[in-house]
Amino acid sequence: MSPSTAKSPIAKPRLVRCPQCGEQAPWAPENSFRPFCSERCQQIDLGCWASDGYRITGQLSDDEAGTPGLDFPDTPPGR
Ligand SMILES: [Zn+2]
Repeated sequence: MSPSTAKSPIAKPRLVRCPQCGEQAPWAPENSFRPFCSERCQQIDLGCWASDGYRITGQLSDDEAGTPGLDFPDTPPGR
């Protein structure tokens, strides 16, 4: 008795380079952070985009908050 099928059903995970830190990260369904190697690298990359959007949002919010003349009452006079 000799097993004719020597191939493993599970192939080796393909390694890709993490765009954040440059480490080898497995490109596999198990790696939900791909193409990143870890969650940290993914968060860092997302943080860059988030911070960029936050700056624009912050400026708009700050400009709107600093606009004089707009004084909305807390309780509407509908009583
Ligand atoms: Zn990484």
